[in-house]
Amino acid sequence: MKATEKIEIKSLLFSELQTELQGLAERSYRADQIVDWLYKKRVDSIEKMTDLPLSLRKRFADRFSFSKIDIVRVLGSRDTTRKFLFRLSDGNLIESVLIPASPALYGEKSDRQTICISTQVGCAYGCKFCASGLEGFSRNLCANEIVDQIIAIERASGEKIDNIVFMGMGEPLANLKNVIRAIRIINASWGLRIGARHITVSTSGLAPQIKKLADEPLQIRLAVSLHGATDEVRNQIMPINRRYNVETLLSACDYYVAHKKQRLTFEYILIAGVNDADTQAHLLAQHARRLSAKVNLIPYNAVEGLEWSRPSRNRQEKFLSILRAEGVPATLRREKGHDIDAACGQLRLQTSRQERRRAVPA
Ligand code: SAH
Ligand code: SF4
Repeated sequence: MKATEKIEIKSLLFSELQTELQGLAERSYRADQIVDWLYKKRVDSIEKMTDLPLSLRKRFADRFSFSKIDIVRVLGSRDTTRKFLFRLSDGNLIESVLIPASPALYGEKSDRQTICISTQVGCAYGCKFCASGLEGFSRNLCANEIVDQIIAIERASGEKIDNIVFMGMGEPLANLKNVIRAIRIINASWGLRIGARHITVSTSGLAPQIKKLADEPLQIRLAVSLHGATDEVRNQIMPINRRYNVETLLSACDYYVAHKKQRLTFEYILIAGVNDADTQAHLLAQHARRLSAKVNLIPYNAVEGLEWSRPSRNRQEKFLSILRAEGVPATLRREKGHDIDAACGQLRLQTSRQERRRAVPA
């Protein structure tokens, strides 16, 4: 970082803020005041931190920047999922989704307000079924841009968010440093105070990063997007599998569950004729038993321009029944309108390209 570059205040951990303040010859209790303004009172500028002396606010404003993300557009209504399109300070667009209290998704209670947040602009992993990868990868989000999605949605909706899923645009484990920093802020008692058990990170299978995450003390939940029980199937739809094959991924998961109390979840999108055969269900059950994992089956959501489709209802139920018969805790999303499915992982095309273009002023 250049000496002249400002530090983004909402990307700092409490201890770092204290160190910064010491560097400015300020008393350490100022850090308590600042986090209170940032995460409790939620002001949107340093000038509004009115119990700090004016001269100090000016010095802070010279030293720190204060990010904001602008809501460009909201789709959906109060009792369904609401999709928020944000413009970042550099003009890039990202989306997050608010899923109102509804059947349990990833947390253990059923009455939680969940948001599905993005970690990157675009995605470099190019899974064949996913809209987020279609336009390629632009950049990682900074920690403050991740945290800001939650703050902005709470402000706009008036809802208190108490469940976070990292299942929006991007691969969270490819942006691990910023994601962990954001999770610390989201989880901290001085920050957004959302319990670690109500934070789920989803990955397409970056094996080394799964191990790194396992070494972190945070008791967050991990969801692994498996979508295929063999290399043959996974190679067809997820290029990442050529780097980390199923066995490499599963042994990283072994390591993860050996280090964590939380149960792991396998996400498994059901795609007609690709990964929905009985043999896949039996092998998936074996993998899940090996890791004491549960399985979330998600009927594929059609993406404009992609050839895949979801299997018949009978096929979905049959797949589920095989897992259950083999003793694996498994759920199948059956929500009407597929609102919740649509919420996560395929945000980009939910706001069609045309709408997105319209949302950006010329
Ligand atoms: N990159 C991470 C997190 C974002 S994707 C990952 O892949 O896990 C979040 C989830 O949405 C993943 O399980 C992803 O496979 C799923 N998803 C992507 N496209 C989908 C679609 N068209 N229908 C249903 N789920 C989809
Ligand atoms: Fe990226 Fe996840 Fe979509 Fe794959 S499924 S392209 S990893 S966002």
